[in-house]
Amino acid sequence: MLKAINKTHLRQTGLLQRFQSTLVVAEHNNETLTPITLNAITAATKLGSDVSCLVAGTNCAKVAEQLSKVQGVKKVLVAQHEAYKGLLPEELTPLILATQKQFSFTHVCAGASAFGKLDVAPISDIIEIKSPDTFVRTIYAGNALSTVRCNESVKVFTVRGTSFEPAAVDGGGASSEEVSPSAPVGVSEWLEQTLTKSDRPELTSAKVVVSGGRGLKSGENFKLLYDLADKLNAAVGASRAAVDAGYVPNDMQVGQTGKIVAPELYIAVGISGAIQHLAGMKDSKTIVAINKDPEAPIFQVADYGLVADLFKVRFLVQKVEITDLKPFF
Ligand SMILES: Cc1cc2nc3c(=O)[nH]c(=O)nc-3n(C[C@H](O)[C@H](O)[C@H](O)COP(=O)(O)OP(=O)(O)OC[C@H]3O[C@@H](n4cnc5c(N)ncnc54)[C@H](O)[C@@H]3O)c2cc1C
Repeated sequence: MLKAINKTHLRQTGLLQRFQSTLVVAEHNNETLTPITLNAITAATKLGSDVSCLVAGTNCAKVAEQLSKVQGVKKVLVAQHEAYKGLLPEELTPLILATQKQFSFTHVCAGASAFGKLDVAPISDIIEIKSPDTFVRTIYAGNALSTVRCNESVKVFTVRGTSFEPAAVDGGGASSEEVSPSAPVGVSEWLEQTLTKSDRPELTSAKVVVSGGRGLKSGENFKLLYDLADKLNAAVGASRAAVDAGYVPNDMQVGQTGKIVAPELYIAVGISGAIQHLAGMKDSKTIVAINKDPEAPIFQVADYGLVADLFKVRFLVQKVEITDLKPFF
């Protein structure tokens, strides 16, 4: 009881914040920082405490330099070792634990991406920070919000990128410090990474996303969307049904079990609007839907709807001029 009163008092007076410090685990490829780390930094600053970033890699001085300029970052901790090639969880986990212990961080966070999926009991994919121990996350495919209080002394959480603005990439002045790499565990080895190469913007950070569903009927027909996306400098997404049917690769999937996007403009073509798909895109600023079924649930969330056969109106879509979409850029 005494502990509870003290904690409440400390929270009210703001003293608790003073004893807190947050470690953001940076996601990068040794050359550039992954954008979601900037959203995680913004979330970390909302805790009102000092924010440090851990950059682990093989040759990651460039990323450390980028991070030192990011607003809100006080210290950049750099750990370089061959063992961190590919950022394997088996090698990173002991390093994160040792760093937490060395600096007594009260919070550890990362972006909620494939990289940030932690093998502990974190509070995952948070969309709001109420106080240093209270976080909001979505449940039931985004249909309900759950406010979670964490009693752990060290809080581990991941951050939904679309719920926090990215931290400004200049204007900061963080100091840099080397941390000793932990002894390699050696149970796994990085061989290679095969990435889908695309000149289009990355799906989760694109301002415009054009997505296709089962209504496209084949992978070849996705060319319609690629052509439109190239005109609009947009990323191309897909529903799970389109992915499962083999029309497109699974890194294009938007939804509960795919990527979460919140662009300025989301164009859904031949997508019914199942709850699991909506969970990944309903926070988009403007939603346009093209579907031949007037009862399709996607029209309930769409700002603009076109009830039509997508193959018949394709000439309309191809005629879209960049000027028509100016408000979205
Ligand atoms: C646990 C779980 C997780 C899931 N996760 C995801 C997820 O992350 N993302 C996701 O998308 N789904 C997910 N799903 C699947 C989801 O429930 C739906 O099955 C899926 O979203 C349907 O995809 P679709 O809208 O492309 O296909 P359909 O539901 O088959 O809809 C196709 C639409 O195309 C329209 N159409 C057909 N032909 C034309 C035409 N010529 N012109 C115009 N319109 C046309 C139809 O009217 C229809 O509305 C998940 C399901 C489960 C159970």
